[in-house]
Amino acid sequence: MKVLELKNVSVRYRTEKGFVRAVENVSFDLEKGETLGLVGESGCGKSTLGFAIMKLLPEGTIVEGSIKVDGIDVSSLSNEEMRKIRGSKVSMIFQDPMTSLNPILRIGDHFVEMILTHRPDLSEEEARELAASALEDVGINRNRLRDYPFQFSGGMRQRVMIALSIVLNPAVLIADEPTTSLDVIVQAQIMELLEKLSREHSTSMILITHDMGLVAEAADRIGVMYAGHLVELATKERIFTEPLHPYTVALLESIPNTDINDRELKYIPGSPPDLSNPPKGCRFAPRCEKAMKICREKEPPEFEVDGTRVKCWLYGGDRNGSD
Ligand code: SF4
Ligand code: MG
Repeated sequence: MKVLELKNVSVRYRTEKGFVRAVENVSFDLEKGETLGLVGESGCGKSTLGFAIMKLLPEGTIVEGSIKVDGIDVSSLSNEEMRKIRGSKVSMIFQDPMTSLNPILRIGDHFVEMILTHRPDLSEEEARELAASALEDVGINRNRLRDYPFQFSGGMRQRVMIALSIVLNPAVLIADEPTTSLDVIVQAQIMELLEKLSREHSTSMILITHDMGLVAEAADRIGVMYAGHLVELATKERIFTEPLHPYTVALLESIPNTDINDRELKYIPGSPPDLSNPPKGCRFAPRCEKAMKICREKEPPEFEVDGTRVKCWLYGGDRNGSD
């Protein structure tokens, strides 16, 4: 069962320099209970895609294509209708939970407010009970509903955010760099918690990260984004054993390998293109070791190779560059 369907989604931001083409023509589905890792360097459009699904992009942003959450086409919903979907059908958690918590509201009040917005049929008492059990689900004592956000450590605050985002049992959870600001041990605990919750509640998850190590653990499938394009999409196994896109290969080579002492962290020379004026042809061409003539002239379409979707001229088409 598909809980999320993106078809040809493009996002354009208006800036002083003109339109920034932050996401272009991205399509993918998410099955119930599945975790999709969305990876790429910062600025590649992965967070933008998360915000587009939540309909939380700034006013004036143009979103094209179709986004369906649990069968509902969110593109056509009003702000009011979307408010009802957020939290109940799709939730998002961020790197810094403090930005989403109101410092002067007790944790319990955050829950009650959220729950009653979606479930006006419940009493405040019932909402508090739901909140307490969600808090216990993430390993926090129910007494702490009385505390304020500042009374929690970074890791505990992230747990609170996770509890808040799953208390209404949404079909999809978008986790945007959920562990980036935490230390390694807490990171592992939060990831374990997310995996446990998605297993127990069959929540589908989009895990947005620049950390290939994180998706190696948690994801079922991996989508690789570069400069607003989804350049490769495959199962985790395929991505790690047989990466096809030169950018995916470079990303994997940049993972530090602690088993081999003197292996150097290879990083990809150059930087992503300016998306207000992206290069003609393949957006990775200026940094690609395998670039051919056609790569600089025509944008590669998506090819399918043994179940992997890959947007690169190495895998099909007329490679000579002549039209
Ligand atoms: Fe490299 Fe060409 Fe493939 Fe782009 S299309 S990734 S430039 S080989
Ligand atoms: Mg981001």
